[in-house]
Parts: sequence; C-alpha cells; structure tokens
Amino acid sequence: MKEIPSEKGLFYDIPGRGILRIKHLVLDLNGTIAFQGKIRESTRRLINELSRRVNVYVLTADTRGKAHHLCSSLEAEVCLIKKGREKEGKAEFIREKGPGETIALGNGDNDQLMLEASLLGIAVLGEEGCSVPSLLKADMAVKDVDTALEILLDPDTLKATLRS
Ligand SMILES: [Mg+2]
Repeated sequence: MKEIPSEKGLFYDIPGRGILRIKHLVLDLNGTIAFQGKIRESTRRLINELSRRVNVYVLTADTRGKAHHLCSSLEAEVCLIKKGREKEGKAEFIREKGPGETIALGNGDNDQLMLEASLLGIAVLGEEGCSVPSLLKADMAVKDVDTALEILLDPDTLKATLRS
C-alpha cells in the first residue's frame, strides 16, 4: 500500500509563543552535526526523518573540503558560506529563507547571529562544546545534536522546555 505523505512542515503550539510553523531546518556542520569529520549514523537517520517534513540545509565554510562527501547520504542541501564571514553569511542565509519559519542548530561562535535570527535557535553542546555568546543568543540548549533532533520530532518535549 502506498504510504500517504504526512503534512509538510513542523508545528508546535508553545504557550507564551503561540503556534510555530516551521518550513526550514538549518544545521551548522562542524561541531554541530559532525565531530572530527564524522556524522553519526543515528544523526543521519534523524536528519533524514526530519527532511520528510521540512527543508534541511547544512551550512559550512567547508574548511576541510569534505562537506559534500560527508553529507552525501543526507536528505539535505549543503550550502557553502564564504570563509572569513561565516557569522554574517549564516545569518543572511536565515534571512533569505524566512527567519519566522526557520529553526537553526549551531555550536560555534560564528553561529550566534544565525541562532539569534531564527524563530528558534538551538545551541548544541556536543563533544566540541558551545560558544557562550552563541549559547546566549539561542532559545534553548541541548547536550547533543541527536537530542535536539529528537526534540524537534516530539512537539510535547519542545513545548515542555519552551513554555513560559
Ligand atoms: Mg560549528
């Protein structure tokens, strides 16, 4: 039997914030979804699950030159950000997509404007840690990327964390 595709978009009803309608998920690559040049299988699976509901973008300056290879099994678009102006470039990307329907995940200092610009910015501590300025610009912080992605797939958990 043919599977009926679920409704596009992610929807969260957060007391104090209203209903969030999300179309885009923007992910920093190094330190956020990848650590030491690798993306965990569990992370890949969660990203691909989310990609059935939202457009997923992976942002990177690709300093290692391996981003496309690393992301080849991801249902996501790899978008290159100009080296040396990552902070501004990532925020500009969010503004182009539509900040009001975008969630961003990041960990580095150059993710702070992107986290601030997005409707929902999530700081990821992960194995690499998270820049404190970025942490302060985010709406929430999580211990690792899989936890962040799992929360996005579970509206009740997100609601519990963000309700005012
Ligand atoms: Mg990073």
